[in-house]
Amino acid sequence: MSKTIGFIGLGIMGKPMAKNLLKAGYSLNVCDLVQAAVDEVVACGAKAYPNAKEVAQNSEIIITMLPNSPHVKTVILGENGVLEGMKPGTIVVDMSSIDPTVSIEIEKEVAKKGGFMLDAPVSGGEPKAIDGTLSIMVGGDEEKFNEVKDMLLKMGDSAVLVGKIGSGNTCKLANQIIVAMNIAGMCEAMVLATKCGVDPERVFQAIKGGLAGSTVLNAKMPMVLERNFNPGFRIELHIKDLNNAMAAAKAVGMEIPLTGEILEMMKALDGKGEGKNDHCGLIHYYEDKEGVEVKRLS
Ligand code: NAD
Repeated sequence: MSKTIGFIGLGIMGKPMAKNLLKAGYSLNVCDLVQAAVDEVVACGAKAYPNAKEVAQNSEIIITMLPNSPHVKTVILGENGVLEGMKPGTIVVDMSSIDPTVSIEIEKEVAKKGGFMLDAPVSGGEPKAIDGTLSIMVGGDEEKFNEVKDMLLKMGDSAVLVGKIGSGNTCKLANQIIVAMNIAGMCEAMVLATKCGVDPERVFQAIKGGLAGSTVLNAKMPMVLERNFNPGFRIELHIKDLNNAMAAAKAVGMEIPLTGEILEMMKALDGKGEGKNDHCGLIHYYEDKEGVEVKRLS
């Protein structure tokens, strides 16, 4: 019989991921601060508990999918948190994107209680969370990774053990730098084309099969053309990731100037109240300066 899973954090990503586990036949115990999200997953067969402690008391594997390091600390180490209810032998799989040093810190506390922890952030965004085709990057013990790999592959189509605890999140920082640069490149290029009087949709059609083509371009350019900035992945979450990347670079004495530049652009938009837009909303940074709009002309 498959193990009972506790799933904490049913937001844009967590909700479809939890639903895919239910569809695959797992028993799921859930909690979230948002009652509507809990109700939706309960309607698909999950059991709700009022807090992380009670979820942990009734589960053998715990998945967390929360916004950032402080939320993960609260849910795992805090009052009525996972550690208070967790049985020895429990595997905690934190799938949030957080500071790798915090993953290392939390793992030590989980180990003191006889549990195991993996950091397993994901890439692919909401569409791939819904399809169950996320890319999952994992840090931690190989034996524990092998124990949960089949379960991870119900939410993703790849799960790669990158290294020891914290490595999953270091890998995710690399991922987020590359995504940010793809988006910024797309925005800069498409605003330039528009300002030069060329139809941005035709530019997209012309280049998407060439070397400039990318998953980012295919996912985000249609959103820009439709002027749809609903997240997806919020600018404020990307700011969090790039801040974590800057801290990781500082810790090893490296400069990451391109990341710093895009971080400042995103912060400027956040300061104007646009932090809850999808990260393709970075286009506004250029559009506002240049007085053009990248949109479908026909
Ligand atoms: P979200 O804000 O939509 O969801 C987070 C959920 O956590 C919310 O439902 C919130 O109520 C819940 N939560 C917060 N504190 C809690 C607590 N103390 N107890 C219980 N529940 C609590 O965020 P998201 O977009 O689902 O992202 C989650 C993580 O995944 C983030 O680290 C993000 O960077 C990462 N991520 C997001 C995407 C994306 O496209 N949205 C893609 C890849 C990775």
